[in-house]
Amino acid sequence: MARILAPTRRNIDRIARSIRRGGLAAVPTETVYGLAADALNPAACESIFKVKGRPLTDPLIVHIRTMRELRSIAEVPAEAVLLARKFWPGPLTLVLKRKPIVPAVVAAGGPTIAVRMPAHPVMRRLLRATGTPLAAPSANLFGRLSPTTAAHVKAGLGDRIAWILDGGPCDVGVESTIVDLSNHARRRILRPG
Ligand code: AMP
Ligand code: MG
Repeated sequence: MARILAPTRRNIDRIARSIRRGGLAAVPTETVYGLAADALNPAACESIFKVKGRPLTDPLIVHIRTMRELRSIAEVPAEAVLLARKFWPGPLTLVLKRKPIVPAVVAAGGPTIAVRMPAHPVMRRLLRATGTPLAAPSANLFGRLSPTTAAHVKAGLGDRIAWILDGGPCDVGVESTIVDLSNHARRRILRPG
């Protein structure tokens, strides 16, 4: 059964080490709890799909801490920089062209990647500790309600994961808004958040 860990430095380092070795952990963000893995490790990202029962055709959102990390995984047009300045860190996800370093499984085989810079302080500390972008869809079984507390994650995924990092109840409680900037001629909102 999953253990709920308080966001102490020791626990964050321990989860970061596990993620760097290909492990998974449920993590808090300001929108909903996410099921996080190293976004550059294809096997780890595949296990996100297995644990959630999520079809491989449904791509993951990748969380980053810095604009430098963003540029390492995606092509960044000027309008993405403008939106990032205004809304990041925060609940806005941008769909951009992905760079080859990103495993295909993260993007469901497509040419784009969905990226967000989260504001939650615990998630930011974890991103700093792992030093790698984290793929993290909502920490629920596919098709279920997205969890906004550690207890809610445990009720849904408790028998499938080892660790839940407790960051308290999520402030926003709804998923991020998703804007597609991958095609200059056809920019659009994919999901209101
Ligand atoms: P969630 O399950 O809340 O983490 O949200 C993931 C959702 O982000 C997916 O179901 C898609 O709707 C959207 N998404 C992720 N990657 C992409 C992408 N490359 N292009 C378009 N939408 C994406
Ligand atoms: Mg979801």
